[in-house]
Amino acid sequence: MNNDSDVMYRMLVQGVVDYAIYMLKPDGTVANWNAGAQRAKGYRAEEIVGQHFSVFYGASDRLAQTPDANLGIASKTGRFEDEGWRYRKDGSAFWAHVVIDAIRDENGKMIGFAKITRDVTERRENEQQLLRARDLAQAQSARMAEISSFLETIISNIPSCVIVEDAISREILLVNDKAEQLFGLHKSLIMHKRPHECMSPELSDYFNSLADIALRNEGIHTREQLLVTAAGERILQTRATTISGRDIRQNYVMLMVEDVTDQREADARIHHMAHHDNLTSLPNRMLFRQKLSEALRAENQLSATLCLDLDNFKNVNDVLGHQIGDELLRAVAKRLRGSLRDQDTLARIGGDEFAVVLPNMHDAQEAAAIAQRLIAAIQPPINVEGHSLSVGLSVGIALTSQATNTPEHMLRCADMALYEAKRNGRNRYEHFTPRMDDLARHRRAIENDLREALTRRQLKLYYQPITNDAGIIGYEALMRWHHPIKGVIMPNDFIPIAEETGIIHMLGAYALYEACREAQSWDTNQSVSVNLSPLQFKNSALVSVVEGALRESALDPHRLEVEITESVLLDDSLGNIDTLQRLKKLGVQIALDDFGTGYSSLSYLRSFPFDKIKIDKSFINDMSDSREALAIIRAITGMSRSLDIQITAEGVENSEQFARLREEGCTLFQGYLFGRPQPSELRLKALV
Ligand SMILES: [Mg+2]
Repeated sequence: MNNDSDVMYRMLVQGVVDYAIYMLKPDGTVANWNAGAQRAKGYRAEEIVGQHFSVFYGASDRLAQTPDANLGIASKTGRFEDEGWRYRKDGSAFWAHVVIDAIRDENGKMIGFAKITRDVTERRENEQQLLRARDLAQAQSARMAEISSFLETIISNIPSCVIVEDAISREILLVNDKAEQLFGLHKSLIMHKRPHECMSPELSDYFNSLADIALRNEGIHTREQLLVTAAGERILQTRATTISGRDIRQNYVMLMVEDVTDQREADARIHHMAHHDNLTSLPNRMLFRQKLSEALRAENQLSATLCLDLDNFKNVNDVLGHQIGDELLRAVAKRLRGSLRDQDTLARIGGDEFAVVLPNMHDAQEAAAIAQRLIAAIQPPINVEGHSLSVGLSVGIALTSQATNTPEHMLRCADMALYEAKRNGRNRYEHFTPRMDDLARHRRAIENDLREALTRRQLKLYYQPITNDAGIIGYEALMRWHHPIKGVIMPNDFIPIAEETGIIHMLGAYALYEACREAQSWDTNQSVSVNLSPLQFKNSALVSVVEGALRESALDPHRLEVEITESVLLDDSLGNIDTLQRLKKLGVQIALDDFGTGYSSLSYLRSFPFDKIKIDKSFINDMSDSREALAIIRAITGMSRSLDIQITAEGVENSEQFARLREEGCTLFQGYLFGRPQPSELRLKALV
């Protein structure tokens, strides 16, 4: 290098401010210093020249002898290049790009190093930021992929079909697995198609119209329809709603499709069960009421309500069992249904109770003709499992009128007419008349009074003597009602109502307790007779009530006699005979009352060993005029002698009757001739 170029070169180097360019002696001490070095590192030339260049390194590098190692590399290889932290005079760090070149003279002797240092902190920072941004982007992308796969799993597994369409193009953008199954199409054949391009016209019309509605109106729109799907005919319930994306151009229609077929079938079954009778599959009371309401709403139309009740059904059920009873009801239902018009509703509203609505009647006669047809249909015996069963049918008819025509009122009227039909001998029909309503009201009034009578002790027992040749052997207890307004009411006027309403059980128990208590104060050879209603036999507690009355009064059971009528043996014979036997086992005497008025079948006398038979007073009354009455009395006394049963003649009013009855073989007598029924305080104690 000549001198000029040497000078120029030095000036150039010293003037460069962006690079720190300086020389190191072979031992690493700074030989010169340029403006760039001063700017980069903060040292002035006079401060740094002569110092070892390791001052620019950090403590750990110095400790590791990195500066010497770097020089070593440069002297060995001719060049060392690196990036790393260097320190300024003020201690602040900067990221430096460093190049150290070994300088040799013409002879190859090492004369020092040229060192160029550039502050690249800013560049490095940019690089670092880019790296960080890249890492962040990668992390976010992984997160997005995770979310996306999560959402995909969820949507795939939603138990409803999900279809999402673009609001404008109507292209299908999303379908889940369930939808795939419903349409029997792979996703790939559905995606990015419009419904009519991938579904049947019926299905695509269904979805399109729902999507149209959803796009026109906000909210969720639901429609249920029977449609043909890959799984056959199914009832689909679809809810359509719109979804708005962030961009106003991003709008979607979401269709959520449920297959509700099974649910609707179950609903229908439940509905049918709720409205029909299990046994006969006929409408039940609830559906009947609906049909009746409909018939009543039809204006200018006469309709009839019929209440039907089987006669003698209970006997079949009790004797042959429920299974046969149920079969009988099914057969009856079939016959009844077969006798009606299509528009009529036949319902089973209770055990053996049926009801009919007859809409569109011309007149009462037409309803009566149908009632007659129903009765006739039941008349022929019904064969059930080898049993030929005869049941009758009673029918009450109520017609719509100007008066209140509510279902309840119609049913009540028809029921009152039914009650009348049964009272008038069964196997017949009756039309409702307002008089029945009056009677029913009257019965209800008596019922209320009767309940009060029990609590207010208005019911009293009267005692009528029963005699034999020697004198009074006992008394029949007869109930009288001392009504505060109506005065004394006789049993015939209130016992039937007590029987209908169930009050009879309380009345009967009261009579038993009261009579036993009273009899306990009498002569020990005198008994008390208490009448039992057939209805009392329907209560399983009857025997224990009798036991209770005996226990509480401490009356000798032989001094209590119960009087029953033939009807006890007529209804539910087996159960009632069992009850009678249990009573007899207690020691109680059993008398058959009012004999001759009912069926008077001899078989009754064989079915149970009665202690007494009481001949009904109507025969005693008629005996002087009627040869027939006398013949019956004679037959009864003859029969009782052979069976060794005592006979009581009731209603003996004069001495001729008394003399005649003695001749005929009667041993016991009761009637006005011997004494009227009297309250206990006036009781006749001996015959004069
Ligand atoms: Mg009696």
